[in-house]
Amino acid sequence: MVTRQSWAEPWKVKVVEHLTMTTHAERKAAIADAGYNTFLLPSRLVYIDLLTDSGTSAMSDRQWAGMMIGDEAYAGSENYYHLERTVQSIYGYRHLIPTHQGRGAENILSQICIRKGDVVPGNMYFTTTKLHQELAGGRFTDVIIDEAHDSESEFPFKGNVDLNKLQRVIDEVGVDRIPYLSLETNVNMAGGQPCSLENIEQTCALCHKHGIKVILDATRAVENSYFIKYREPAQQDKSLGEILRAICDCTDGCTMSAKKDSLVNIGGFLALNDDELADQARNLVVVYEGLQTYGGMAGRDMEALAIGIRESVHLDHMHSRIGQVEYLGHKLIEAGIPVVRPIGGHGVFLDAAKFLPHIQRDQFPAQTLTAALYLDSGVRSMERGAVSAGRDSKTGENLFPSLELVRLTIPRRVYTQAHMDVTAESIISVYNQRDQIKGLRFTYEPKYLRFFQARFDPVD
Ligand SMILES: *Cc1c(COP(=O)(O)O)cnc(C)c1O
Repeated sequence: MVTRQSWAEPWKVKVVEHLTMTTHAERKAAIADAGYNTFLLPSRLVYIDLLTDSGTSAMSDRQWAGMMIGDEAYAGSENYYHLERTVQSIYGYRHLIPTHQGRGAENILSQICIRKGDVVPGNMYFTTTKLHQELAGGRFTDVIIDEAHDSESEFPFKGNVDLNKLQRVIDEVGVDRIPYLSLETNVNMAGGQPCSLENIEQTCALCHKHGIKVILDATRAVENSYFIKYREPAQQDKSLGEILRAICDCTDGCTMSAKKDSLVNIGGFLALNDDELADQARNLVVVYEGLQTYGGMAGRDMEALAIGIRESVHLDHMHSRIGQVEYLGHKLIEAGIPVVRPIGGHGVFLDAAKFLPHIQRDQFPAQTLTAALYLDSGVRSMERGAVSAGRDSKTGENLFPSLELVRLTIPRRVYTQAHMDVTAESIISVYNQRDQIKGLRFTYEPKYLRFFQARFDPVD
């Protein structure tokens, strides 16, 4: 899909941050202390940190310069107005409600829209999105296409909504019980897989025909726009900004974790077109986040975010961002490592069920693999399988999603190609010793979002 052979970074390095190298013995002690959960490792014991691309991007010199013109007024900060103008012009929504990060926006949206017993269809669940829907009394239902559940399917738009599944949900529960459809771009839990613009437009048309709103999870909408440009022939002459606007224009609002696409370390927002809903959201934001002109962000954070949003839609930036992810992915594919295909936008996802077929699902192969990879080289990855999926809210049984994955998430503008080479070597070395790896069992299981804080022990 990428025609240029190389994708050299459209930036050069101005400041460096030193990394720590650890010994095998230090890592063995560290991962045991962390209860075999990579979220519980101190970052000083991590060599290459691919836990998440959330808030881990490197800011540009212009964003840092923007931090110096932070207007830290409690109310009406100049940086808020800059951010508002930027969101209105790049994303196109009318009302901006800033929040400290994505889940702050999800909380407010869920509380103002969802009533007890409501059903929220979406293209695969996201952990925090689903939890806020449930805490507000709703239930998530998955309407993503079947290809998304098949790690080997090369379908170019595995994030698409299955319109038949959506129609069935509408017929079964009725429009009155569906407050909105939650539409995620570059679907995280499916491996960073995009939706086509055609599917987004059809999905919105079907919802709007029934009077159902569509709320975009715009966290990775720019990355999704890049895939649309290269995979959807009708869109190839459009700029990323134009494609992004086309996505946003057919939806009614968005929740945004600016810690991803927008190249900042903290921040997020809720954006809405409906005046009345926006008023309700502005009223709730003061309860949970802060005044409606900062929503939990410092003035300087809002300035860095406004600048980051503009940088995020540059084609050269996105070309090297996605090029780097594909570089790592294709190296692993060449070595015969089972990964989700096609390679997604923000990371490479190892198929842990195929990588460690001798470990049963209830001994958490993906969690096990994250620990083994850390032990081998100090590379930190994260589980996206049964531990992340949690338990059924009715029966209390473990949920076993179709995909049992390990996510190697690439921070933006942070690591070099050589770091990707070292990462690939370590994964290949773990793969060559995979028969000796043993599964895990819980020693501590928290109630909410258990993957963040759970602790494990190896099974004998
Ligand atoms: C990260 C993320 C969120 C939650 O955002 P936070 O900023 O971590 O609170 C929501 N949706 C998707 C798709 C995400 O990747």
